[in-house]
Amino acid sequence: MDDCLFCRIVAGRIPARKVFEDDEILAFHDINPARPVHLLVIPKRHITSLATVSDADTAVLGRMLAVANRLATEQGSPDGFRVIINTGRIGHQEVQHLHAHIVGGPEPVGPMLKRI
Ligand code: AMP
Ligand code: ZN
Repeated sequence: MDDCLFCRIVAGRIPARKVFEDDEILAFHDINPARPVHLLVIPKRHITSLATVSDADTAVLGRMLAVANRLATEQGSPDGFRVIINTGRIGHQEVQHLHAHIVGGPEPVGPMLKRI
């Protein structure tokens, strides 16, 4: 996936501030943080979005969530955090490689949704 930004980060062709990596997961700081803690957790294998996952992806999806707790605590949000997975056009997904935003910090993050 030469044209995928997050695949390029996985391949080391674009730098990122990595906080966790194993065989199937990579986590790094969002380049434009919305909160004091703002991490992105991604599968190393290209999955376009939550709208394209299958039963074969359940293990890696579970692991993405399992590392979120430890990373949030380590990175400065020890008393809870929020996980956001923007999906597709309606979900305003800008990068077409599945990613979970982990947001938090010392202060509560506020209401989940802005009312339209
Ligand atoms: P989304 O709207 O859920 O697709 O969000 C994509 C996120 O990726 C945004 O919060 C961006 O700030 C973030 N982002 C874009 N490019 C990079 C990059 N090179 N390194 C880290 N985060 C990035
Ligand atoms: Zn990709």
